[in-house]
Amino acid sequence: MQYRIDIKSGNKLSVLGLGCMRFPRTLAGIDMKKAEAIIMSAVDQGVNYFDTAWMYPGSEEALGLALEKNKVRDRVYIASKLPIVLVKKAADFDRFFDEELKRLRTDHIDYYLAHMLTDLASWENLKALGIDAWIASKKKSGAIGRIGFSFHGMGGEFFKLLDAYPWEFCQIQYNYSDENFQAGVKGLTRAAETMPVIIMEPLLGGKLVSGLPREAREIFRRAGGEGKVPTLRGRPFSPAAWGLRWVWNQSQAAVVLSGMSDPAQVLENAALADVSAPGCLSAGELDVYRRVREVFNASYKVHCTGCGYCMPCPREVNIPGCFAAYNTSYAIGWITGMQQYMTSAAFTSARSFGPGNCAACGACEGHCPQKIPIAAALRAVRKRMEPPPVRLLLAAVRGFLGRTRAPRR
Ligand code: SF4
Ligand code: SF4
Repeated sequence: MQYRIDIKSGNKLSVLGLGCMRFPRTLAGIDMKKAEAIIMSAVDQGVNYFDTAWMYPGSEEALGLALEKNKVRDRVYIASKLPIVLVKKAADFDRFFDEELKRLRTDHIDYYLAHMLTDLASWENLKALGIDAWIASKKKSGAIGRIGFSFHGMGGEFFKLLDAYPWEFCQIQYNYSDENFQAGVKGLTRAAETMPVIIMEPLLGGKLVSGLPREAREIFRRAGGEGKVPTLRGRPFSPAAWGLRWVWNQSQAAVVLSGMSDPAQVLENAALADVSAPGCLSAGELDVYRRVREVFNASYKVHCTGCGYCMPCPREVNIPGCFAAYNTSYAIGWITGMQQYMTSAAFTSARSFGPGNCAACGACEGHCPQKIPIAAALRAVRKRMEPPPVRLLLAAVRGFLGRTRAPRR
């Protein structure tokens, strides 16, 4: 494993971090056996940065349990986050933090972030509640190691936030689909001058793997087949490997978070991390990304990463499911998108509804880190995925199942 130095603290951080947002799940919650296997495989491979959050259901508990059970807490850095959208009063700082310590089975959080800061105003609100003094006391006691923020807003606000507080690190979304989105390359470059920058969504929530159009996959495949790029243990790079290498090519990225879903993926990504470094991409490879980016962005209609922060919807609309199927209908084809729509959007469970049930109340939109105008986007989804014959079919099936529209709450 390669490590990059946290220029603020001197800590050695593994260039590959484990994103703990999407551990494998069963109907009952996180599949602890699989989650533990992933966590321990990462530890064995030298990964020492584990990123979780209050907002990731069950994740802090799973991470805490696995680290304690295997007695490896002191070998890793835990990063977790204050759910600022839920903070209403000063007492909430301690309420969330103390619960997070319990969930994580630890007495300190090494890297603690204000989760989902979008603009200076949201930080000023926290300051008005006294977050400065609260952070100072937690750092003094050692309960918080380093303090940072994760950013989900638009361009200029990132720079204002950087200047608003003596942050010790930050976390931004960054991948090859759009290097100017949110903080973007300018934000990354500026922040990296004074602090480590943690990269999230290097694969856009998996969309740069599962949502890649055939044409884009073919561009990657041909580039490998023609020997224009190196291979990993004799095998051509997967789309995921392409995505991760693009970020590791940049010296400003301290840790790249990957939400690995099984130990084999951990092994592959760790091996990839060993052979990826700033400047590892040739001009030919950069041209491959340019061509893939063009194809992908033409198909990626709604920039939803499937994070689920907009859920639950009071009208029980399956928002990320609708957007995933809609994007698939452009990336892979309408029939495949429709199959996905029928199984994962319109009828996921007894109480899951398609876009037709949206009342445009707007309750979801303030929670979306991608700033998607959700109600309007759902209208576009309905138009494409529910042409009149499909609408009739859905009405008939719903009638047969005896399902009505969700009640207003
Ligand atoms: S705007 Fe539509 S999708 Fe969003 S919370 Fe309201 S009803 Fe649900
Ligand atoms: S619509 Fe926004 S909040 Fe909801 S899942 Fe997609 S990206 Fe996340």
